[in-house]
Amino acid sequence: MSSIAQSDFAMSESRINEVTEMFTPLRSNITFTAGTRIFEENDKANDAYLIQKGYVEISRVTANEKKIEYLLGPGEIFGEIALLDGKTRTATAVAIHDTTVAPLTKQQIQSAIEGEDPLTQLLLHTAIRRLRKTLSKDDVDPNLTHLQTVGYGEYFQNTQKKAINYINRISSIQSAVSEQKFHLHYQPIIDLSTGFIKGFEALIRGPIDNPDLQRPDLFIPLAEDLGLIIPLGQWVLETAINGLIQLDAESAKLKLKNKVFMSVNVSAKQLEQVDVVENLAHTIEQSGFSEKRIKLEITETALLKQPDKAQSALNRLRQAGASIAIDDFGTGYSSLNYLHQFPLNTMKIDRSFISNIQTDQNRGRIVSAIINLAHDLGMDVVAEGIERKRELEWLERQNCEYAQGYYLDKPKTLVECIEMLKKAYY
Ligand code: C2E
Ligand code: CA
Ligand code: CA
Repeated sequence: MSSIAQSDFAMSESRINEVTEMFTPLRSNITFTAGTRIFEENDKANDAYLIQKGYVEISRVTANEKKIEYLLGPGEIFGEIALLDGKTRTATAVAIHDTTVAPLTKQQIQSAIEGEDPLTQLLLHTAIRRLRKTLSKDDVDPNLTHLQTVGYGEYFQNTQKKAINYINRISSIQSAVSEQKFHLHYQPIIDLSTGFIKGFEALIRGPIDNPDLQRPDLFIPLAEDLGLIIPLGQWVLETAINGLIQLDAESAKLKLKNKVFMSVNVSAKQLEQVDVVENLAHTIEQSGFSEKRIKLEITETALLKQPDKAQSALNRLRQAGASIAIDDFGTGYSSLNYLHQFPLNTMKIDRSFISNIQTDQNRGRIVSAIINLAHDLGMDVVAEGIERKRELEWLERQNCEYAQGYYLDKPKTLVECIEMLKKAYY
């Protein structure tokens, strides 16, 4: 045994194979001449195959008799079952013409499936299990079939758990939307030159008694997949505008000169359909807020999904009176090329850049360059996620206009924000 294998850090052979496979690029096509056996029933499985050209016969032997199950042609996959459930080949594959196939590794097949939602994964694995059982020549206890291959049994049970959890989360979010159980919290955004509150970011919150709806960054993607983000996003905009009206009313009573802005998060899905954008634009126009008092926050990933659609949506929303902020800057594609193509007013630097900015020189240089870039392009800058006084002081020195973070204030109810207007910063 080599010294590497004996060390505490040695990888198991299976792990080495797994890692090697993960980094193996798509392998080149293989051509089998007519009559070649590609694999045999009960062989160990390493690859599945996508037929590019030619034909493959899939057969099985039952009671000493060969039975042809399928004749497969270009565009069809074979050899995938054993790869998915980790068992041996269920049939024999023979090229019956000169046949060219693209080999697909276990890793490629698994990552394609794992990219799907948990329900689709469960449907697929259930279909495989049923097929295995139909193909099985042994008389097996149906309750034990999925436990036969230990690894796959555990994997299948995990898939079941994930699917149940997924269905529960779907029903949670559907009922919370229809019963209007969401509410908004607002986090102050501070003007670094004055120390005053310049605006608020509206952040969605689910009902407190529902653990599935506590983290917006977890339930928003699901709302997007289900299309529920369209009514939910429209509700967020309308509610945030109502919040702004109340904040204005309170400011007027207090005779405050400065009027705050309201930032609202908008997801990529809301920008995809013209009628959805039109509803958002109409709501902004109806609110009568001018001077860009409503700011829409969009992530760079969202902008780059369908750049042409995003661009015309943003133009329409700007025309309606909103200003546009690019959210979580630096965490997406970070392709600087798009920056000047979109009508952007504000850059929000993601909080991952901000923590320990003062002690990490390179991080500091990056943020300082981002601030200068934004200013050169005519944008103002909000630094997100300020958790320490020294981060705030550093940003002040860099001429960053605005800051937001737990050090300044956590997201709060509207009533608490109104109280804050009365007491602090102004
Ligand atoms: P975001 O737009 O980047 O919002 C800022 C998030 O950072 C908020 O989390 C806020 O509570 C948190 N945060 C603020 N200051 C600090 C800090 O100093 N330290 C740390 N660690 N975190 C801080 P929240 O409210 O959980 O929202 C998470 C994400 O969910 C948001 O990230 C946004 O992407 C999404 N989201 C929230 N509300 C909405 C909404 O109404 N519509 C859409 N489409 N997405 C929303
Ligand atoms: Ca945001
Ligand atoms: Ca952000």
